[in-house]
Amino acid sequence: MRFYHATRFLFPRRYELRLLLVCFLAVHVPLITVLMFEAVTMHWDLTILGVLLVATLAGTALGLAAIHALLTPVTRAIDLLEAVHAGRRVLDVPVGGQDLVGRLYLGVARAANENAARMERLVDAAERDPLTGLRNRRGFLDSAETLLDGATQAVLAIIDIDHFKQINDRFGHAEGDRVLEQFARHLENGIRRTDLAARWGGEEFIVLFVGASIAEAQAVLERLRTGLARDCVMPDPAWELTFSGGVARLAGFAGLGEATHQADAAMYAAKQAGRNRLQIAS
Ligand code: GH3
Ligand code: MG
Ligand code: MG
Repeated sequence: MRFYHATRFLFPRRYELRLLLVCFLAVHVPLITVLMFEAVTMHWDLTILGVLLVATLAGTALGLAAIHALLTPVTRAIDLLEAVHAGRRVLDVPVGGQDLVGRLYLGVARAANENAARMERLVDAAERDPLTGLRNRRGFLDSAETLLDGATQAVLAIIDIDHFKQINDRFGHAEGDRVLEQFARHLENGIRRTDLAARWGGEEFIVLFVGASIAEAQAVLERLRTGLARDCVMPDPAWELTFSGGVARLAGFAGLGEATHQADAAMYAAKQAGRNRLQIAS
């Protein structure tokens, strides 16, 4: 490090130019030595000097070009590291040999991978509901946009657990949480892998059936409704856990807002009609 610091006054912001200058000076040592020798001895051999001058010029050109080329991967590695540091996704990290450049690229690749994993964890944490592990509202909207890309038909259902407040009041908040977790598993296990279930808020859930007709979605939802008591065990076996759901069709992501509104209104109608039922939006 001492030589590095001692030479910092030369091109303080351009390390590569410092290297090139050192190379330039080193290549000129034989020429300068012969010049000094001939000056001291007062014996000028112009042929030797000429040959030496041409050789020095050729050596300088070759040396500078080679050092410049050898520095290119280092400059590229620094650019990649800066991209990683700025939080950009770096996919193609070149592979070097078993030398300094190889180790440098290995370090860049590790940093890029760790960064990508950290970003993924952050996005995941921001888009998942910590209690149920399902996507939250934001995660649902993000995933729905991808799932509905190119889909011509889909069905949306908003599901709300009936009398959930009474569950909290009677069995305690912790038990209410456990019911929400079990309810989430029941939903997840009852839909296809290509569909999407999320916690819409509180004791409300949302399910997106991609490529499904109303009849197909309704069949799945009915199965979920009638199978709920089997999967969600209540502390008091006499308590019948039920939900009400509103169902609406949608064509693509652009119609999601309208479909949510319709499904919500249909769910409210199901509550009004006595709960523990599904209502299809007209
Ligand atoms: P309805 O049949 O009309 O839907 O009645 P409800 O009692 O289910 O609905 P209401 O909106 O009156 O109450 C919802 C309750 O859900 C109130 C709130 O304290 C509870 N809740 C919301 N989020 C959570 C949670 O994360 N854990 C627990 N344990 N309770 C929650
Ligand atoms: Mg409710
Ligand atoms: Mg509710």
